[in-house]
Amino acid sequence: MALTGIQIYKVLPKTNCKKCGLPTCLAFAMKLAQGQAELSLCPDVSDEARVSLEAASRPPMRLVTIGAGAKKLEVGGETMMFRHEKTFFHPAALVVRIRDTAPDTTIVEAVQEATSYSVERVGMTFGIDGIAIQNDSGDGARFATVAQIIKDKTDLPLILMSTDPAAMNTALDRVHDAKPAIYGANRNNIDQMIDLAKKHGVAMGIRGNGLDELAELSEKAAGAGVESLMLDPGARGLGDSLRVLTQMRRLAIKKGFRPMGFPTITFPGEGAASLDEQAILAAHYIAKYGSIIVLDTFSPAMIYPLITLRLNIYTDPQKPIQMAAGIYPIGNATADSPFCVTTNFSLTYFTIAGELEASGVPSWLMVCDTEGLSVLTAWSAGKFDAEKIAKTVMDQDAPSKINHRKMILPGRVAILKGELENELPDWKILVGPAEAMDIGGWFRKNWT
Ligand code: SF4
Repeated sequence: MALTGIQIYKVLPKTNCKKCGLPTCLAFAMKLAQGQAELSLCPDVSDEARVSLEAASRPPMRLVTIGAGAKKLEVGGETMMFRHEKTFFHPAALVVRIRDTAPDTTIVEAVQEATSYSVERVGMTFGIDGIAIQNDSGDGARFATVAQIIKDKTDLPLILMSTDPAAMNTALDRVHDAKPAIYGANRNNIDQMIDLAKKHGVAMGIRGNGLDELAELSEKAAGAGVESLMLDPGARGLGDSLRVLTQMRRLAIKKGFRPMGFPTITFPGEGAASLDEQAILAAHYIAKYGSIIVLDTFSPAMIYPLITLRLNIYTDPQKPIQMAAGIYPIGNATADSPFCVTTNFSLTYFTIAGELEASGVPSWLMVCDTEGLSVLTAWSAGKFDAEKIAKTVMDQDAPSKINHRKMILPGRVAILKGELENELPDWKILVGPAEAMDIGGWFRKNWT
């Protein structure tokens, strides 16, 4: 269990030397307890205290890395049961499973389709996070060949899936430099799988038949030095998996039960009778508490809403996604194009930018720093007022970008028009529509 600031303070040197950058040891202890400082910042902590503090400050769920290079995957490392308590840190990974019984051409097409899939949401780009390779053929040589084919076609992280240690060894010998995870350790093969994970330094997935067996196997692997683990409790149906995954998260986070302190791996396709059911199960795993979600079907129509759901759940509620303040051209904006203003909440920006683009009228969109708040919220919090808008006009040097002096204010804050005219006496302030979707019609009637 996590230590309190006072418990940490008791084992610090108590010299208040300030080398850690904080004025007192107590302040440092408080920061450490909140996870806002690293123990390494204190050079004078004793070895004995370091050992006890490092053990106690280890996160309740281990962070596991799969793959190598820029697209390597990090899962786990969560510290909360519920996002609103603080935040979730590592979004559930969406992985597509490919079976080694498929023809090579089908495999290559599937890998290329998954690898090239890319969608943009509020200024961020998302795609598939990994490829799982299932050894359905029962043939180690074929499994290794398919792993090699897939590795050569993608830079996405790989998960090798087989319960046969010999087949896994053959595949690992071919693709171990990609640092794939291996999945399929169970009661029957755990010792050989541990040896393989240690030999190649890769993460290992364990499937247990219920939580007791899973805890026993996880403890055995960790005791043998394999601590990059992914846990599969074996439940597949909606109700069972919800209950078991919640229990696992609770044991890890609330009870500090180390054998459950690892990310989970889930298989929505195995509990589903249709694509719709697979999508429902995958959504459920994103919400509670899947760390890796292995999909059996690559369907953009299914994956896009899953990515959107994941973005909602894994966005830090205390840090709205923000745009940098600035003046952004929409389309081929010129010095005579309309000049609109809004706040820096990303969702607001991209909604308005999308509607401006759809209107077909090239324009400018000036973004004011409102600490990530939307228009009405920022206005009511005093962060989007005439003074702020006028200051942004000057800070961003709007007069150098546009010839006219006409500004289109969001209709929701029409009340700012008079004050803004006082702040910017050279400008004509126009009140735009209340809804972004009406901007095209508004341009046709009001912009000449
Ligand atoms: S560096 Fe260590 S001893 Fe010095 S003030 Fe910080 S916590 Fe205390």
